[in-house]
Amino acid sequence: MTTAVYPGSFDPVTNGHLDIIRRASKMFDHLIIAVLKNSAKSPLFTTEERVKMLEEITSGISNCTVETFDGLTIDYCHSKNAQFMVRGLRAVTDFEYELQIAQTNRVIASDIDTVFLTTNLKYSYLSSSIVKEIAGYDGDISAFVDRRVAQRIKEKMRERSMKQ
Ligand code: ADP
Repeated sequence: MTTAVYPGSFDPVTNGHLDIIRRASKMFDHLIIAVLKNSAKSPLFTTEERVKMLEEITSGISNCTVETFDGLTIDYCHSKNAQFMVRGLRAVTDFEYELQIAQTNRVIASDIDTVFLTTNLKYSYLSSSIVKEIAGYDGDISAFVDRRVAQRIKEKMRERSMKQ
């Protein structure tokens, strides 16, 4: 059985992530989406909220589960008996960083291979940070995230503005 881990902060999950999830789920028997705990210094969503959104939008993909982790990604892969790690590549900037990490990981754990999926061209510009920035100015994010995620972002922005 092939198991792959797709790690990330997913703060929040975008259509770019979802595209990678759909494609990767067809390549492996089991795909674990692994949400990194406390990855960003001040994430918009808590780890639990990010997991919930991911579970909601991937509920139709039967071989995909959502979990959380901290520490080294390769240690987490070992704990799940995963042989593969999935990463998405958007641009040259992603490539340099990702190549360095993948090569370092291969030295530490030669039994785990990183599989890179190139972004769907329509999402090559898309990142969680850009979505948050647009939403922060009350812009239209409907082309970038699932409608349920867009709704949560709106609610979160409203909560934040009320606190200020
Ligand atoms: P971000 O870089 O948006 O904060 P994450 O840290 O959650 O996202 O990224 C997790 C993985 O998903 C990384 O491998 C990243 O390159 C990939 N990814 C993010 N956005 C996209 C996209 N639009 N298309 C393809 N892959 C993506």
